[in-house]
Amino acid sequence: MSVNRRGTLFVVSAPSGAGKTTLCRELRKRVPGLAYSVSVTTRAPRPGERNGVDFDFTDETRFRQMVEAGEFAEHAMVHGHHYGTRAATLERALAGGTDILLDIDTQGAARLKAHTPEAVLIFIVAPSMKELEQRLRERRSDGETEIERRLARAREEIPLWPRYDYLVVNRDVKEALDLLEAIVLAERARTRRLSLHFNDLEVPN
Ligand code: 5GP
Repeated sequence: MSVNRRGTLFVVSAPSGAGKTTLCRELRKRVPGLAYSVSVTTRAPRPGERNGVDFDFTDETRFRQMVEAGEFAEHAMVHGHHYGTRAATLERALAGGTDILLDIDTQGAARLKAHTPEAVLIFIVAPSMKELEQRLRERRSDGETEIERRLARAREEIPLWPRYDYLVVNRDVKEALDLLEAIVLAERARTRRLSLHFNDLEVPN
């Protein structure tokens, strides 16, 4: 018997501080065959971030050239910086039957779903606004103004959760990871994504 499957886009969005970066990294360690779409951004690298691995860091001029050349499947302005998903990365993965994980904001997720309806959209939230604020403060990577900006954006983004296919509440990392893994594995078994061939099964006419 042989089973063939097209690659699937797994799009993950979350308000800043919900734990999405950690969950996406750990999910990729757990689930084999999940590639990652490295976004292009004009924001400066944070300590420890590697060019070409976490993001492709670029400047405004180059980003604009890429937009004009039609290189992005979607792009958006988030927290005052440009971010974009390369169309070629997605096409290469999907054509080769590889699943791909995208960590993109709510605007990007909506654009990809309109373009690729079979994409799987997953929204991650912290259990409360209080918890979200605490996590943003514990990160110590942002100043007060930036924290306020991220909280304001979270208040706008959280009500968009019904546009997603799945909701993951990140109370506990292990519990959230178990759920994410289950979602990916179940989506991989969806009959509409599969073609099946039995060598020894005679199908009646
Ligand atoms: P950060 O700069 O904090 O890593 O990411 C800020 C936000 O930008 C996050 O919500 C992240 O999901 C989003 N983001 C990262 N890459 C892309 C992208 O290629 N497209 C869009 N639309 N959003 C992105």
